[in-house]
Amino acid sequence: MPADGTIDKGTLGEAAAAPGAYALILHLAVPVRFSRTGMASASLSGWYVYAGSARGSGGIRARLQRHFRPGKTVHWHVDELTNAADRLLALAYPQGAECDIVDRLLRSSLFQPALRRFGSSDCKRCPAHLLKPVPDMLGTRYGSAAEPPELFR
Ligand SMILES: [Zn+2]
Repeated sequence: MPADGTIDKGTLGEAAAAPGAYALILHLAVPVRFSRTGMASASLSGWYVYAGSARGSGGIRARLQRHFRPGKTVHWHVDELTNAADRLLALAYPQGAECDIVDRLLRSSLFQPALRRFGSSDCKRCPAHLLKPVPDMLGTRYGSAAEPPELFR
């Protein structure tokens, strides 16, 4: 695993097999038109952070392996984005909870909900489990589109 703790395709095998939560950091170079019944539709592009949890067998590692697999059948909202992402990184939080990740990122004031209810249809606590950098921060803290947000480096 890299020193900063981020996981990429090459270091996936080292991700914790324990249950817990994870953050996906993804970049969409080509806009994705996202539309679901009961949600506002949106054109998504640029950097996003998605918080999820993995409670099943194989834990976080197994779940991340699925997220990193290209061309997977779309089951969760985020599958549409990971299938289209040109950059995909992850952070593992063994024993963590995805809502805590969302909470921490929102309280940092560096992120805002990307699309209401995205990934959080059954969550009573978070406005969305998909966040995006606050626009004001893009020019200052976030360098080129080729580099992930500084927060995750
Ligand atoms: Zn939540």
